[in-house]
Amino acid sequence: MASYNYKDKTVIITGGGSGIGEALSKKFASSGANVHILDFQLEKTQEVVDEVLEKGGRAQVHQCDVSNQEQVKEIVQGIASKNSLDILINNAGIAHVGNIEGTSESDMDKLYQVNIKGVYNCIYACIPKMKEQGNGVVLNMASIASTVGISDRFAYSMTKGAVLTMTYSIAKDYIDHGIRCNSISPARVHTPFVDNFISKNYPGEEKEMFEKLSKTQPIGRMAKPDEIASLALYLCSDEASFITGTDFPIDGGFIKLNG
Ligand code: NAD
Repeated sequence: MASYNYKDKTVIITGGGSGIGEALSKKFASSGANVHILDFQLEKTQEVVDEVLEKGGRAQVHQCDVSNQEQVKEIVQGIASKNSLDILINNAGIAHVGNIEGTSESDMDKLYQVNIKGVYNCIYACIPKMKEQGNGVVLNMASIASTVGISDRFAYSMTKGAVLTMTYSIAKDYIDHGIRCNSISPARVHTPFVDNFISKNYPGEEKEMFEKLSKTQPIGRMAKPDEIASLALYLCSDEASFITGTDFPIDGGFIKLNG
């Protein structure tokens, strides 16, 4: 594995208590970063933090709903008052299964609040400090749904599409301040997000559904959270200093090789 030195870097990771966020938190911490996790699941996230601390890393949890602007602002200001604010990874996200007819106004609002407003809130809170420093990296967790849409995921695809356009706008508006902004678009990754979806929608058929979903990806399996975190580790590093305003699909061939 490539090794990176994040010793002097403070990293904010949203949704770092589970799945991809958990892998991100552990990987950045094991590369020396000072990791601050914003997640609304306190106990589960504390377990991630405890594991990092046991291994001699630096991490702490801030219980937070990213859709709440006041909460995000207060937490980010607290972190920024004692640390540099080098990297923000907007990873927290939620899904809803349904085409437009299966998406109520309240489903729509819920996904907007977390997947769009949550990303906006975190970037909005971090930008002043990054501008003052003259540098910073923002990395957003989009999805293959952002570019190709996924059937029966109307609100998810729509909100993840907005994550891409936010990425491009931020990259353009802050390039002169030394701030880079990119996104990652995974296809299916084996996390609690996927397991919960299968057990909720296909009770008793979990194993078959898992195999079926794995086979929708040309590579024949789901990604491991760690494989997504490896790309993030590179994109947030100085090795990627020429990369901004770009989306990176990491999809086992889903977009280009299907069909
Ligand atoms: P997960 O459900 O395993 O973890 C998500 C984490 O985000 C949880 O710890 C949860 O508590 C937290 N969270 C959710 N809403 C929050 C809120 N309002 N405020 C604070 N924390 C909140 O999910 P995952 O599979 O690891 O997905 C992480 C990201 O990757 C999401 O944005 C998801 O859309 C994206 N993604 C996942 C897949 C996949 O197949 N798993 C594919 C493409 C994109």
